Amino acid sequence: MERILNFIDGELRTPVGETWLDVYEPARGVVYAQLPDSDARDVDLAVTAAQRAFPAWNALGREGRSDALLRLAALIERDLEGFVADESRDNGKPISLARRVDIPRAIANFRFFATAILHFSSEAHVMDDVAVNYTDRQPFGVAGCISPWNLPLYLFTWKIAPALAAGNCVVAKPSEITPYTAYRLSTLCNEAGIPPGVLNIVHGLGPKVGAAITAHPSIPAVSFTGGTRTGAEIARVAAPMFKKLSLELGGKNPVLVFADCDFEQMLRTTVRSSFTNQGQICLCGSRILIERRIYERFRDAFVERVRALRVGAPADAASDLGAVVSKEHMEKVLSYIALAQQEGGRILCGGERVQLSGEQTNGWFLAPTVIEGLGPTCRTNQEEIFGPVVTLQPFDGEADAVGLANATPYGLASVVWTTDLQRAHRVARLLQAGIVWVNCWMVRDLRTPFGGVKQSGVGREGGLEALRFFTEAKNVCIKL
Ligand code: NDP
Repeated sequence: MERILNFIDGELRTPVGETWLDVYEPARGVVYAQLPDSDARDVDLAVTAAQRAFPAWNALGREGRSDALLRLAALIERDLEGFVADESRDNGKPISLARRVDIPRAIANFRFFATAILHFSSEAHVMDDVAVNYTDRQPFGVAGCISPWNLPLYLFTWKIAPALAAGNCVVAKPSEITPYTAYRLSTLCNEAGIPPGVLNIVHGLGPKVGAAITAHPSIPAVSFTGGTRTGAEIARVAAPMFKKLSLELGGKNPVLVFADCDFEQMLRTTVRSSFTNQGQICLCGSRILIERRIYERFRDAFVERVRALRVGAPADAASDLGAVVSKEHMEKVLSYIALAQQEGGRILCGGERVQLSGEQTNGWFLAPTVIEGLGPTCRTNQEEIFGPVVTLQPFDGEADAVGLANATPYGLASVVWTTDLQRAHRVARLLQAGIVWVNCWMVRDLRTPFGGVKQSGVGREGGLEALRFFTEAKNVCIKL
C-alpha cells in the first residue's frame, strides 16, 4: 500500500515514531494509503530546518521568491490531471469540481501571492518638518499553517503561498483526513527550486502535530482554518505565548431571498450555494430565509431542482454530488437530520444515506436534504452541520430577515437576493458577516479581505491582509 511521507528539509521522510494512519477513499469506503502519524519530534525537525533555511530564503528577495513560487505553480499546472484525480479520490468530491475549482485555485493562489509580493509596499507618515516615519515590514521567520479537509489543496496553498512570498519559511499540517495533494505538492518542491527547509509538511493528527505546531516556541504565528472548537483550543494555547493568530472558523451562513429578486438566477445559484462540495464549504448557505409571499413558490421550485441533483461516483462527469469526506462525518450529518426531525422539522427531500452499487457500494453518500418548519433558535438552525443539509424559514420584511440572519453565534458569509439596490446596500451593512454576496455566491477576488466575525474567526486572509499577517510592522522614525 502506498505510503505518504513527511517533507522536511527538502527530503521525503518517514515519521520519527515509525507509526502510520490509514487514509480512506470516501467514495468506496476503503483504505487506499497510509500517512505518517507524526508527533512533536517531527515538528521539531521541521522547525529546525525552517529556521536554518530562513535567512537565505529571505535574502533571495521578492523576485527570487516570486520566481520560485511561479515555477511551483507551473508544475502543478503541468500535473493538473493527476492532482485533480488525487483530490477527488482523497476527498470524495466530484472530479469535475476538483478540475474546475480546487486545483486551478491552488495554482492561482501561488500565482497571486508570487506577484502580489512584487507590488507590496509599506506606508510613510511625514510629520511636517519634525520627522518622517516609515513602516518596515519584515517576515518573522517560521510560520505555522494548519488547514482542513473540505478544500484540501485550495486552502493549504491559500496559507502557505502568502507566508512563503512574504519571506517566511513554513511548517504546515494538512488535514489528516485529506493529506494526498499536499504530499503530491511536496514532491514538486525540489524540482521547482524551492530550497530545502523553506516548506516543510508534517502529516498527522491535529491533537499531536497541530498542537505541537501551535505550542512550538519558535513558531511566532499560526494561520489556522477549521472548526470553531479547534480554533478556541489553538487560541487558548497561543494567547499566553503572544503568538500572532489568524483563525478562519465555522459558519452557519444565511441566504436572504427577497420577493423582488431575479427568481431564476437566485434559484440556480441557491442550489449551488447549498450543495456544492456536498455542502462542505465554509461559505455554503445553510439557512435559507425567504420572504413569506414567495415562500411556497420558492419551496416547491427549490425542492424540485434539488430532487433532480445526481449523487454519484466522483469520477462520473454526470455526478452533481460525490461522497462526504468520512464515515464519522456522514454519521454526524445523519444525526443532525434526526435531530431536526425531533425538533419538529419536516424533511422535504433527501434525509438519508444513498446506497450506490458496484465499486461505490460502501461509499459515504448522502442525499441533498431540505428541511422546513424549524424556528431560528433550535439546534439545527444554530449549529454548523457542514453537509448537504439546508433549512427553509419564512420572513416578513427587512428587519425580520436581518434579525433571523444574525441570530447565530457565527458570522462568516451571507447572501442577499434582491433587485432593489438601496435594500442591497442597507441589508449588507446590517448583516453580521465578514463577507456579503449580493445576487451571486462564491465570486472571489483574491485581493479582498476574507474572514468572519463572532465565532467565525479572527483576522482576515487574502491580498494585503495576508501579506500583512505574515510580516511584522516596524515603525522607523527619523528626525528631520
Ligand atoms: P478541524 O478544526 O477539525 O481541523 C482543522 C485542522 O486542525 C486539521 O488539520 C486538524 O487536524 C487540525 N487540528 C485538530 N485539532 C487540533 C489541535 N488541537 N491543535 C491544532 N490543530 C488541530 O476542522 P475540519 O478539518 O473538520 O474542517 C471543517 C471546519 O473547517 C468547519 O467548521 C468549517 O466551517 C471550517 N472551515 C472554515 C473556513 C473559513 O475560511 N472560515 C474554510 C473551510 C472550512 P486533523 O485533521 O488531524 O483533526
